[in-house]
Amino acid sequence: MKRRWLTVDLKSREVGETPVSPRQALHGGRWRTVRELLDRGAAAADPLGPENPLIITTGPFAGSSFSSANRLSIGFRSPMTGGVKESNSGGTLAYALGRLGIAGLTLLNGASSWVLIHISEDGLRFEDASPYLGRGVYETAGMLRERYPRASGIGLIGPVAEYGGLLAGFSMTDSDGVPGRLSARGGTGAVFAAKRVKAIVVEGGATPEFARSREFKQAMREYAAALMADDGVRRYTVVGTAGTADFENMLGGLPTRNFSKGRFADGENPLGGEVMRRTILERDGQGATEHACMPGCVIKCSNKFPDPNGRVIVSPLEYETLGVAGSNLCLQTLDEVAELNRLANDLGIDTIEFGAVLGVAMDAGLGEWGSLEFVRRVAAELRRGSQEGRRYAAGAARFGRAIGHGRVPTVRDQAMSAYDPRVVEGTGVTFMTSAQGADHTTGNVARLNPREKTIEELIELSFTAQVNMGLADALGLCAFGGSVNNVQKEKVMQAAGLAAGLETSAADFDRIGREVLAMELEFNRAVGLPDVMPLPDFMYREPLPPRNLTARVRPEDLAGFWDRLSERS
Ligand code: SF4
Repeated sequence: MKRRWLTVDLKSREVGETPVSPRQALHGGRWRTVRELLDRGAAAADPLGPENPLIITTGPFAGSSFSSANRLSIGFRSPMTGGVKESNSGGTLAYALGRLGIAGLTLLNGASSWVLIHISEDGLRFEDASPYLGRGVYETAGMLRERYPRASGIGLIGPVAEYGGLLAGFSMTDSDGVPGRLSARGGTGAVFAAKRVKAIVVEGGATPEFARSREFKQAMREYAAALMADDGVRRYTVVGTAGTADFENMLGGLPTRNFSKGRFADGENPLGGEVMRRTILERDGQGATEHACMPGCVIKCSNKFPDPNGRVIVSPLEYETLGVAGSNLCLQTLDEVAELNRLANDLGIDTIEFGAVLGVAMDAGLGEWGSLEFVRRVAAELRRGSQEGRRYAAGAARFGRAIGHGRVPTVRDQAMSAYDPRVVEGTGVTFMTSAQGADHTTGNVARLNPREKTIEELIELSFTAQVNMGLADALGLCAFGGSVNNVQKEKVMQAAGLAAGLETSAADFDRIGREVLAMELEFNRAVGLPDVMPLPDFMYREPLPPRNLTARVRPEDLAGFWDRLSERS
């Protein structure tokens, strides 16, 4: 497999190109982002200064139809947490880069004026991005699709990123050209804006040659078959991630009313996966209960949520949004959450952080619980970039401090995803220990009964989940294939080796995952950040109905957590 790496100096507009070795191709995605950040001394960089490098990487499968293996990783020092951040997403950009044989890009320094980066077989060029400024993400993506009809992948930032709002992500087009997939977390969009990069458009390309092509194709077929035969994976196909809203509601760990309750509905959750599926099927029209965000994905956990007339409001409508930006705000219907989601997508912002900041505002009495009008008003201020809008755009932690409100569900100044750690304890351990702050994607342990495990068992489960996700993120694999990936380690590594051109073994799976975590820890230590953080104070004091549990795991329980990295796997 011939791959290359582009190093782009945005100030001088020089573009360097280096070949990527098979070993480097295998160590892609999140592994490569943190390696580059360390090598370039990003721990000492001002996160919103030109010296903060922005690393954009694919995995070894990029450009192929290997199922759910075309995720794009974006790494940088986070202006939200102050530490390392790797924000990854599905969509088509990694696929498009892979088809041009590009393993990734390092963006250095900052452009003097807003640019669009265009990449094709003819090379990389800069274009003036001023026609796209100040517009919503949907409109801008439409303009870009019109201007570049051969585009195979588009990524862009929205209006909130343009003024440095930390809520902002980097939006990417899905397999229908809809910009609904976000590398959302940690201030991704603000770092793009600090470099004056408005969009990346990739055109052209073809299926790349993989090292051992015939065997790789066979491995691709076997992986797809293993996914489709797995019950856990099938569940994602049938109800999508929204099924988690039913489960967490039953468990009592679903964020409700700014994390003051763990259950939204005593019976069926009106914001859950079962109701969503029925609604989509009843409304019919353009709606879809299954949808692949990238070419080749056989899981198809995504969806298209239609209005009563069958016209799509938003795609996808996911669990994290239903939780943190739905029940957490006491919105009552899927239509309301879908509208919020569409507003957020058009602003190019993270629905988790948006839901959390709105929840804090409602908790402080600035808006009525369940008020979609309030949501619309805040969205309008965010779009305008008014003083009030910018206060919200700073995210939940900074907003809470600005208004003097203490009930803020964050760790490392980043909003929790939709798992209350008083009940979803394993994920809580991940929130406390991950170098990336409260981010379930670094190691979710969502399906345990509260108090079912000892603290030591929770620690082991969180650690294992984090190692597994470190590997998945290095290969560009989607988390929703985890029930196959984490069992068939040898096969997964073998397929990655066939793509990259290296002999691999199951041991590489854990090694790569551990290396990702060790490097992220090293980065945060270089910044001077603690290895472990507490949960928000109110979670230790306030019992969470209906289970009436307070948080059990404290930082002192996790003192030796990262020693596991130096132990043999
Ligand atoms: S499982 Fe879902 S999120 Fe993952 S690649 Fe497929 S459609 Fe995208």
